[in-house]
Amino acid sequence: MFSEDELLPVSALQHLEFCPRQWALMYLENVWEENELTMRGHIMHETADRPSREWQGEVLITRSLRLRSLRLGLTGVADVVEFHPVDSEGGSCKGTALPGLGGLWRPYPVEYKHGRPKLGLCDEVQLCAQALCLEEMLSVTVADGAFFYGKPRRRYQVAFDEILREKTETLAAKLHSMTKDRATPNAKYSRKCRSCSIYDWCQPKSVGRKKSAFRYLERISLCEENNGEQET
Ligand code: SF4
Repeated sequence: MFSEDELLPVSALQHLEFCPRQWALMYLENVWEENELTMRGHIMHETADRPSREWQGEVLITRSLRLRSLRLGLTGVADVVEFHPVDSEGGSCKGTALPGLGGLWRPYPVEYKHGRPKLGLCDEVQLCAQALCLEEMLSVTVADGAFFYGKPRRRYQVAFDEILREKTETLAAKLHSMTKDRATPNAKYSRKCRSCSIYDWCQPKSVGRKKSAFRYLERISLCEENNGEQET
């Protein structure tokens, strides 16, 4: 179990999953590139982040709910957590009691994202981490949640299956170990670099060229040494 002082942000998981170097540049070296997409993301989150609580039919909608898991060492704020009445749905999922309300309630986290669904699981692990926090805080099973993407403006449901849970827990452990090590991984150019918000800071192609130049200089120095040996 982690202490309160050791908790790390849930939001870091998506960057670590996307690219360990991106995470290190942002969280260890404080590099952040604001662009049109990230600005849109902030605006979208500001709309979702206003603390509030409202009813939509039988569903209680809470915004900006603070989350934490001492088991995984994570903390964060959920954009939206819906609480669905368990009885009216007749679901098998055990619900949780809520202060001032009767019955049991099933938490359902909803994360707002600008842009389109991404390749890979970087968004999914972040949402699953929120679910794991809710499970620990409320002693309840959170079976699924959803994303609301800006493009297209619609919901995508995510099931928190065993594979996703295991991946999220492994990533949380890696987040703590890399935070402790404080080492920034080398750049490795790949297709995802094209959508990386800190591409200009990282310069993955230039770093690759530097490596080649380094190897070239190494080869030259070896040749010189060999020539020297032949001369003597
Ligand atoms: S540009 Fe590529 S290697 Fe560099 S941080 Fe972004 S994704 Fe990672």
